[in-house]
Amino acid sequence: MSARILLVEDEEAIADAVVYTLNSEGFDADWVDTGEAALDRARAEAYDLMILDLMLPDLSGLEVCRRLRAESVLPVLMLTARTAEVDRVVGLEAGADDYVLKPFSMPELIARVRAILRRRDLDRSEATTGIRRAGGLELDVGRHAVSVDGRNVQLTNSEFRLLSLLAERPGHVFSRRELMQRLWDSTYVGDARAADVHVANLRRKLELDPQNPVRLVTVRGVGYTLAEV
Ligand code: CA
Repeated sequence: MSARILLVEDEEAIADAVVYTLNSEGFDADWVDTGEAALDRARAEAYDLMILDLMLPDLSGLEVCRRLRAESVLPVLMLTARTAEVDRVVGLEAGADDYVLKPFSMPELIARVRAILRRRDLDRSEATTGIRRAGGLELDVGRHAVSVDGRNVQLTNSEFRLLSLLAERPGHVFSRRELMQRLWDSTYVGDARAADVHVANLRRKLELDPQNPVRLVTVRGVGYTLAEV
């Protein structure tokens, strides 16, 4: 069955081109042009991916992403203006899985779409059982469940992947580059700041004091490690 993709874009010319390309690449694409419509549609139907423009006439793409994240782990690929670097970071903070800069080429967009869907399929096919522990942190890989000192924590897919990788080897220092390559399997998001943003998101959920993390620790100049506390 072909993957179902919901495109949220208010510029009709772009939307037409994207939907045409997605359909011709074998995806089943729907299009809505407002944030409210995107949320309604995502609640009503089962999609595999949302492509979400940042600038929409009603809600911003960021707000759509935040609201979606409160109720769903649907992967989100954000469309972001090339000039606004801050928006990319904020988009990831809002729970987007990846972003593409406008103006983009269709092959570039399709490559990002396939990468996200491939990661999701990998998640599904990877060893579906197993518990990973680091101190008071426990990951149930099969159930995609995480608890910290017995308290359940809700993570996005990207956050879960990152934490799961770190928890493979507690105490090992992973470089940002290594994290991005292993998790996002391309050099496109070689932008190390994306790793930093996902780490910051995780800290807000896992640490008592996210400003002074004790579990997900920065090793200055090298990368990150998961401490057994
Ligand atoms: Ca727009």
